[in-house]
Amino acid sequence: MEKSSLVIVYHRQPYEEVVEDGRTIYRENKSPNGIVPTLKSFFGKVDDGRGAWVAWKQVPARSREKFERVVRIEDSFGSYVVSRLPLTAEQVRSFYHVTSKEALWPILHSFPSLFRYDNVDWPTFREVNRLFAEAAAAQAEDGALVWVHDYNLWLVPKYLRELNPTLRIAFFHHTPFPSADVFSVLPWRAEIVDSLLDCDLVGFHVPRYAKNFADVARTLHGATVERQVAVEQGMSPVGFALSEPDVPTLLAQGERRVALDAFPVGTNPGLIAELLAGQPRQAAQASIRDELGDQRLIVAVGRTDYTKGTIEALRAFERLLERRPELHRQVKLMVTSVRSADGMGIYRETQRDIEALVGRINGRFSDLRWTPILLFTNAVPFERLLAYYRTADVCLTTPLRDGLNLVAKEYIAAREGLGGALVLSEFAGCAIEFPEAIMTNPYSARSMDAALDTALDMPAAAGRQRMAAMSRTVRHYDVARWAAHTLDRFGEIGVGMGEPARAAVG
Ligand code: UDP
Repeated sequence: MEKSSLVIVYHRQPYEEVVEDGRTIYRENKSPNGIVPTLKSFFGKVDDGRGAWVAWKQVPARSREKFERVVRIEDSFGSYVVSRLPLTAEQVRSFYHVTSKEALWPILHSFPSLFRYDNVDWPTFREVNRLFAEAAAAQAEDGALVWVHDYNLWLVPKYLRELNPTLRIAFFHHTPFPSADVFSVLPWRAEIVDSLLDCDLVGFHVPRYAKNFADVARTLHGATVERQVAVEQGMSPVGFALSEPDVPTLLAQGERRVALDAFPVGTNPGLIAELLAGQPRQAAQASIRDELGDQRLIVAVGRTDYTKGTIEALRAFERLLERRPELHRQVKLMVTSVRSADGMGIYRETQRDIEALVGRINGRFSDLRWTPILLFTNAVPFERLLAYYRTADVCLTTPLRDGLNLVAKEYIAAREGLGGALVLSEFAGCAIEFPEAIMTNPYSARSMDAALDTALDMPAAAGRQRMAAMSRTVRHYDVARWAAHTLDRFGEIGVGMGEPARAAVG
């Protein structure tokens, strides 16, 4: 098979695999939302059909022989190759559920007390990363760009460099990157940083994470910051937890030069507006409004994860009902805590705690006419979610730590032209973009209470003003801008690609 000039390495497959009439069909993802379509739009930038995607797929050892490793996909993004790395259930458990989620994830999110090291099998983590690197190298022509995504593939750059020194390697973190103090808890820290220093470009959502990485590279590997620039105006508010006036953009270590980048992924406000204007969504909004009657709706949307602050949001809502009985029957909280599909052990306890807390609060306050909390534990389809956002007076986004948080951006996009209040944790990456949000510190009950009161008591005109300012930011830092910016940075590391396919991403 022809080799590719762009290889994207991302742990998820870029389509939905379904079996129809006994035949396997690769169907474009139902949800038009999310990072996968954005990444696929980069294939529009490479010469005909020479893009490749590498992902893993769980395949039992006995089916290995028949397994079709490399498939060609034709969809609205063009024609590209998908190389599926077959992993056993045990490899997935060890590499993903244990090492990635029990050891690396808590450190990335600055929860060192939750770091679990006992079950980690580092040789398996290395081995799976090496297999990813081999699969990517097999698809890449000399000089190709290999774009690796997320911390569970941290060791891929090192192996790739060894396999083919001509490659350009870019890496993007979808998570936060912690301070050197917290990162140092990882016993494998030197190996991880050494691998990342083999990249040409390492990307993050916000300047603070790039700065944290530069600190780690300086202290662990003697790297030096060769270039540092002022953070652009829209991302440099003063006085917030993640405020940063400047950001390192080039690291040097021995012969190695690594460009750093910090630019937040955006959402797609045009698509959101279009979906909301459609007849089915109009009808959904009307029916939600009808069901709510006079009640005001608060939404809190996310996956089940202790980092998401769902427990803190629920407790704040419980205190609100205790503190302000006049709000009984006047407010409803819609919470999604989407349970992880593969039942990861680490999330079981959080899921149980959330369900128990919702049960307790509803048990305390419900009556025949009013149940204060509506909980969804299965994913609400994106288009339906938009109808909830559009009808919600308040969005409560209170992660204890979050790489970016797209939900906040989607809420703002869905409320375009209306007012509303976004209660936003200072510890979500996107907080630096939205100084007009009602900032809160989810570690402080007092701060959460004050934020909820401000949101519910905000005069309509002030809500409209704030939302208009935030909408402008969401329109500015949209996903197309992230793609265009990323392509520019690729250009700087010597990768030649054309103008971004704005139509495909925006
Ligand atoms: N989402 C959804 N249905 C749900 C809950 C969430 O479609 O019931 C989507 C949501 O619209 C958003 C994404 O899941 O696009 C979550 O992204 P975010 O950056 O907020 O958090 P992550 O899960 O990536 O940490």
